[in-house]
Amino acid sequence: MAAKIELVVATQNKKKLREIKDLLKGLPYKVSSLADYPGAPRIIENGLSFKENAAKKARVVAHFTKKISLGEDSGLCVDYLGGKPGIFSARFAGLGKDDLKNNLKLLRLLKGVPAQKRKAHYVCAVAIADKDGLLKVVEGKCFGRIGEEMRGKAGFGYDPIFVIPKLNKTFAELGLKIKHTLSHRFRALKKAKACLAKF
Ligand code: IMP
Repeated sequence: MAAKIELVVATQNKKKLREIKDLLKGLPYKVSSLADYPGAPRIIENGLSFKENAAKKARVVAHFTKKISLGEDSGLCVDYLGGKPGIFSARFAGLGKDDLKNNLKLLRLLKGVPAQKRKAHYVCAVAIADKDGLLKVVEGKCFGRIGEEMRGKAGFGYDPIFVIPKLNKTFAELGLKIKHTLSHRFRALKKAKACLAKF
C-alpha cells in the first residue's frame, strides 16, 4: 500500500483537531498537528476575516513544515451583537481563551432578549496550502440561536449555548455524531475535501 501523505492541521486546539480528524476520515492522509511540530512559529491571528486568518495559518505552517497544511479559523456571530464575537470568539471574555467565561459573558449580554432575537451562526473557514503557497480557501456556516442557559457536555466553545432550532437542543446535548452532520466545520471541510482529494 502507498505511504499516506502527511497533512498538518495548523492548530493547538485538541477538541478542534479531533473534530477535523473525524471529518477527514476516509481521505488517504496521515493527519498531524502543531503538537507534532513544537518548533513551529507562533501565528498571530491579525486578519480581518475568518478566511484571512485560516489562510495565514495554512501558509505559515506549510512553509515551515514543507508539508501540505490545513488552516482553520472559526467562531460565532450573534445577530443581536452585530456579528460579535466573530473572529474574536476565542478571546471574547479575555486573553485566557476560557470557554466557560465566554459562554457566561454571552448569556449575560443577551439576558432578557427574546428567543426570536437570539439568532446566531457559526462560521468556519478552511485553507489549504503547500510549501509554495495557498491552494484553496473555503467557508461553511451553521445557523441557530443562543439558548437561555448552558446545556449538555459534548463539543467545546459555545456548544452548550448554541441551539439548533429544529431540534431544540444545543450542540453540546446533541453530541459529536449529530454535530458532524450539521456543523460549520463539516460544511467547510466538505468543500475542502475536493481540493485535498487531488494530491
Ligand atoms: P480559533 O481557534 O481562533 O479559530 O477560535 C475559535 C473559537 O470559536 C473557539 O475557541 C470557540 O470559542 C469558537 N468556536 C469555533 N468553532 C466552534 C464550535 O464548533 N463549537 C463551539 N465553539 C466554536
